[in-house]
Amino acid sequence: MRRPFIAGNWKMHTTEADAVALAAAVREQTAAAACDVAVCVPFPHLGPVREALRGGHVRLGAQDVHWEPKGAFTGEVSAPMLEDYCQLVIIGHSERRQYFCETDEWVNRKLRALLASRLDPIVCIGETLDQRRAGETEAVLERQLRGALAGIEPSARITIAYEPVWAIGTGETATPEQAQEACAFVRRILRELGGPVADAIRIQYGGSVNPANAAALLAQPDIDGALVGGASLDVAQFAAICAAV
Ligand code: PEP
Repeated sequence: MRRPFIAGNWKMHTTEADAVALAAAVREQTAAAACDVAVCVPFPHLGPVREALRGGHVRLGAQDVHWEPKGAFTGEVSAPMLEDYCQLVIIGHSERRQYFCETDEWVNRKLRALLASRLDPIVCIGETLDQRRAGETEAVLERQLRGALAGIEPSARITIAYEPVWAIGTGETATPEQAQEACAFVRRILRELGGPVADAIRIQYGGSVNPANAAALLAQPDIDGALVGGASLDVAQFAAICAAV
């Protein structure tokens, strides 16, 4: 059985004080949730939020990582640096692909770096609206997934987040059927790549998840949780999504 996993992606939001207060509230209000819970916060807030979450059930994550352990990479942060602060890292988010030219090859390098560390990866994949309209959804998902996992043994430490780009931050959500179809396809590819471990790998849906649509999405057989952007900044909404599991 795959334990459901709800992760918040705070993106480039919160002051340090906001972050600490939000993390403490998430800890309190999701204590009874029947799922794994995580928050992925901006780099400068990892230290203070780590203290707010210490000893509790909420896991802490970062939103990106560089693949090298150290070196002349101004502005970047490595896995060995993050290991002191958090337990997981989002890689390949569509905003990084879109605004920072992140490629499948980079995602692959970052995934290798994370698997060589103590940090668990959340690997984001998803098609744009044009790609969906052109009937290319499965081809895009397959390319991104095979690209991310090239030369890597699939592992249950990896979470895949299926996030259709057209549903991120737009208020437009994939229907439960569309999301299930895509997640089932992702699992088929994982099975081709890794065999039985595919049944242990969690696949999240992400894209305008909110308390009103969460239950129907999370009830789908191949959807094992959610990566939540906007609604994760509101503790009542985030807790309600966790309670919808
Ligand atoms: C995200 O950024 O991963 C995301 C799913 O955002 P939102 O929930 O705001 O669509």
